[in-house]
Amino acid sequence: MISKNLAGIGMTSQRTRSRLIQRLRDKGIVSEQVLAVMEKTPRHIFIDEALSHRAYEDSALPIGMGQTISQPYIVARMTELLAMSGKLDDVLEVGTGCGYQTSILAGVARRVYTIERIKPLLKQAAERFKTLQLHNVTFQHGDGYLGWPAQAPFDGIIVTAAPEQIPQPLIDQLAIGGRMVIPVSMPQGIQQLHLLEKSEEGISRMRVEEVKFVPLLGGIIE
Ligand code: SAM
Repeated sequence: MISKNLAGIGMTSQRTRSRLIQRLRDKGIVSEQVLAVMEKTPRHIFIDEALSHRAYEDSALPIGMGQTISQPYIVARMTELLAMSGKLDDVLEVGTGCGYQTSILAGVARRVYTIERIKPLLKQAAERFKTLQLHNVTFQHGDGYLGWPAQAPFDGIIVTAAPEQIPQPLIDQLAIGGRMVIPVSMPQGIQQLHLLEKSEEGISRMRVEEVKFVPLLGGIIE
C-alpha cells in the first residue's frame, strides 16, 4: 500500500508540499534545514489513502487507534527547537505514531531512537522507514516514559504526547548541553510546549506556546 502511495507522488503533491512550506515560513519557521527536510518528505504516505488529499494541509489528522499525525507546523517548530542546539548526534523520540516526526528528525540528526507503546502503529511506521530507506532510525515497542537508558545520553529528546509532569527518566537521560521539547498538560485541559536545556549548572525550563497533543499514557498495547 505504501509503495502504491509513493508511486502517486506527482506534480500536484510537489506543488501542495511547496505551498505547505511557504505556510510554515509565514508562521515563523526559520530553520532552512528543517524546511528542506519537510519539503522532500512525502507526508501522504504516513496517513490512510482516504485522507491523503489532506496530507499537505497544516493540520493534525487521525491515524487510527485513537491517535493522530501531528500538525506540520508543530513538527517543524519542535524539530527546529532541537536543531538550534547545534550538535544532534543522538535524538530520542517518545511517541513514534505514524513515523512522520521520526522521518523529519532522521534528516537533521545522526541517529534517531524512537519508542511507541502501540505495536500495530509501530509496525506500520517501521514499514515506512524501510520504504524511505531511513537507515539511521532505531525503534522500540515500549513505554517511552522510561526513555531508552541503554542509548543515553541524548543530545535531543522530543516527546509527542503530553504528560502532566516531565518524566524524570527523560531528564536524567539528557546530555549536558542537550535539549528536550515536550508538551505538558496543565489544569483546565490546557497544554504548553516546554523547552528544557541541561547544563552543568542544572536544568533551565521555558514555555514556548500552547499546543494540543494526545496524552502520554503508561503501559503498552500488543
Ligand atoms: N510523532 C507522531 C507524528 O509524527 O505525527 C505523532 C504521535 S501521536 C500525536 C502520539 C503518540 O504517542 C501516539 O502514537 C501514542 O500511542 C504515543 N504514546 C503515548 N504515550 C506513550 C508512551 N508512554 N510511550 C510511547 N509512546 C506513547
